[in-house]
Amino acid sequence: MARLAYVDGRYVAHNAASVHVEDRGFQFSDGVYEVISIVGRRLIDMEGHLDRLERSLKALDMPEPVSRPVLAMIMRELVTRNRVREGIIYLQVTRGVAPRDHKFPAGLKPTLVMTTKHVDFLNQKRLSDGVKVISIPDIRWGRCDIKAVALLPNCMGKTQAASAGAYEAWQVDTDGFVTEGTSSNAWILTRDNVLKTRGLGPDILRGVTRDSLMRIAAEEGVTVVEEAFTVEEARDAREAFVTSATSFLTPVVKIDDRVIGNGAPGSLSCRLQRWYIDYCTGVRGNG
Ligand code: PMP
Repeated sequence: MARLAYVDGRYVAHNAASVHVEDRGFQFSDGVYEVISIVGRRLIDMEGHLDRLERSLKALDMPEPVSRPVLAMIMRELVTRNRVREGIIYLQVTRGVAPRDHKFPAGLKPTLVMTTKHVDFLNQKRLSDGVKVISIPDIRWGRCDIKAVALLPNCMGKTQAASAGAYEAWQVDTDGFVTEGTSSNAWILTRDNVLKTRGLGPDILRGVTRDSLMRIAAEEGVTVVEEAFTVEEARDAREAFVTSATSFLTPVVKIDDRVIGNGAPGSLSCRLQRWYIDYCTGVRGNG
């Protein structure tokens, strides 16, 4: 069966799926998106992702393309049609098609696009071995809490990381504090055993994985402090890791040229990762 994409009401062959040249997503990055992981055919944290999609749309004064139950129905349908057992679903909403003009035109019909991809997440070596990250200046805009498709600085940062043999780049604000990765949230366990991740605000995306992990940590009696940390503190940390829908909890074993801990994933990171994966696979109830 051919791989399908969903474009504005139709399931079409993935390699023939397209949008108009004057779609504002294409012309202005005037759109928002979500990436949801699929584990054992289940969409992980779908409600959390749809909550965030609603927040992003609202922040940009964009209408919802279809009602929430219809959105969920289309997602499930595409996952079923494409027989995705493990992978992701990508969902994008743009303001729609209009003659090119910077100001938001009123009354447009939003464009809704979805694609899926097979990814064998849980068998990736980086989950067990950990990864390297580099630090780079955060050059993004002032509304990183909106999951906008305008990801050029993130793409540049991720490419720089890859060139340095790293998995991710941690972006650092002008005061020397880590904001987040280019596509993940950043966490450390400090020298004094404080588990820290930056607090919510316009300078980071509120990760749905971050939310779930905070809830799981609380259930397990692990305290999370939502506080910014400097890149120096990170390089000196006992443990570090990133979270996102596609990296789950990936341990960090090197930041720039500094080895974290003994160079292997830390013990708290491993426990949190196990709990989070159990949550995704349903072992822990409700993924
Ligand atoms: N920050 C950024 C910049 C991201 O792109 C992502 C990935 N969507 C995240 C954090 C993590 O978010 P989530 O856990 O919802 O995937």
